Amino acid sequence: KPTILWLRRDLRLADHPALVAACKNGGPVIPVFIHDESVATLGAAPKWRLGLSLAEMGRALEGKGSRLIMRMGDPLDVLRALVAETGAGAVHWSRLYDPQSIERDKRVKSALRDEGVDAQSHAGHLMFEPWTVETKTGGYYKVYSPMWRAVKDREVAAPLAAPATIPTPNNWPESDALEDWKMSAAMRRGAAVCAPYQRVGEAAAMERLHEFTGGAITDYRDDRNLPGVDGTSCLSENLALGEISPRQCWHAGQRALHEGAKGAETWLKELVWREFAYHLMYHTPHILNDNWRREWSAFPWNEDGEAPDVLAWKQGRTGVPFVDAAMREMYVTGRMHNRARMIVASYLTKHLMTHWRVGLDWFAECLTDWDIAANAMGWQWAAGCGPDAAPYFRVFNPETQLDKFDAKRVYTDRWIAEGQAEPSDTALSYFAAVPKRWGLDPQDKYPTPLVDLAEGRKRALEAYSGRDF
Ligand code: FAD
Repeated sequence: KPTILWLRRDLRLADHPALVAACKNGGPVIPVFIHDESVATLGAAPKWRLGLSLAEMGRALEGKGSRLIMRMGDPLDVLRALVAETGAGAVHWSRLYDPQSIERDKRVKSALRDEGVDAQSHAGHLMFEPWTVETKTGGYYKVYSPMWRAVKDREVAAPLAAPATIPTPNNWPESDALEDWKMSAAMRRGAAVCAPYQRVGEAAAMERLHEFTGGAITDYRDDRNLPGVDGTSCLSENLALGEISPRQCWHAGQRALHEGAKGAETWLKELVWREFAYHLMYHTPHILNDNWRREWSAFPWNEDGEAPDVLAWKQGRTGVPFVDAAMREMYVTGRMHNRARMIVASYLTKHLMTHWRVGLDWFAECLTDWDIAANAMGWQWAAGCGPDAAPYFRVFNPETQLDKFDAKRVYTDRWIAEGQAEPSDTALSYFAAVPKRWGLDPQDKYPTPLVDLAEGRKRALEAYSGRDF
């Protein structure tokens, strides 16, 4: 009997436990991707990027003589229909850990099992599943460092090889055409502007992993803080879509560590930050949309995502070069350097006293590496209301940060055209990318600061003072 492989955020062939299990069943394997609510509600950039990934996954499967079947609808309805059409006896998938996916997958699993279909979920998106890491007194880690110490010496199984062949059915079920899904509809700038910055698919991700762990990882400890330097792996977009597995990254990082790369341990720690974010989301799903520390609901945030100062932040026109460079980088490339993410998030939540959810939503719209768990943890960390967060009273100063981490202004010159005699192509590309209605022109004067940095800091601290959280 055929086995259906329900693909979601695991768009790779190697180190794919669900795929291996499906192949072991002996019958044909039918890989399917379902455009459901979770896809329909994606922001413009992550949806566009997912479309690229699906096209690449389709090609990779075809390279193995297989195919990617694409269907739209409620997953249970779609899977039931496929079972009926193909006579499949089993459905396999890789687990996800956000509340909506958990609820959906439970419903699918129990309904299919009731109907006699062997529905099985597998690990793969994480190295350590959330229920396998506990503090000494029980319960999950709310602080990162002890979690790192708890897992750093754990055995992480070696990545699985891609199956040599994927058994195919005699008759393939019908598939939608990817073009008809219009994954780029909300992403006018996608093909023309963002595309060159994406590394799409498993092969590209593996190549980057080898390049990074054989090179820049050595200086990662220092270079990872410099937004003007290509010092990080840039694998987040691949990890977010499962084009590469965290286990593959972990083993490559460990190899570099044993070969003496001094930055390797710091990089391995970042992979565990990703796990930490997932564990927090699994155990405290309100982290996704509510203050993790509930007492923060009393804080006087501005919640208007269309307020003029918030629009200026989104459009990279705050008059603060580090902030503006970062926001423009994200709009053009779909990525933003981690140091810059911390700066723009601190600026929005502190200098502009705007609710972190406003920033979280804009990132979810613009990031091609959008990750539900990392984004939520990152915003709550920056705002001060999250677990193991930067305290609210520690307000990043974007000017001193710039002197420290972009002393030669490589990053700001790359992204800010105004006031430069010969602006770089990247800085100009921002103006070509933005909607006309934003009314931006590279000949404009660079904006004066929205708020005086010292005053903004003072205002935030005053709002915070007297609160004991
Ligand atoms: P590297 O430095 O090479 O690190 C390797 C991998 O470790 C990353 O690819 C990522 O998977 C993981 N990682 C690194 N830092 C973190 C972190 N702080 N938290 C969780 N995982 C981490 N990351 C996302 O993948 N998607 C998001 O939507 C996202 N939103 C963020 C929002 C804010 C406000 C902040 C402060 C951080 C956010 N991050 C997010 C975390 C981090 O900025 C990115 O993971 C990192 O910049 C990706 O670049 P890289 O792949 O070169 O990372």
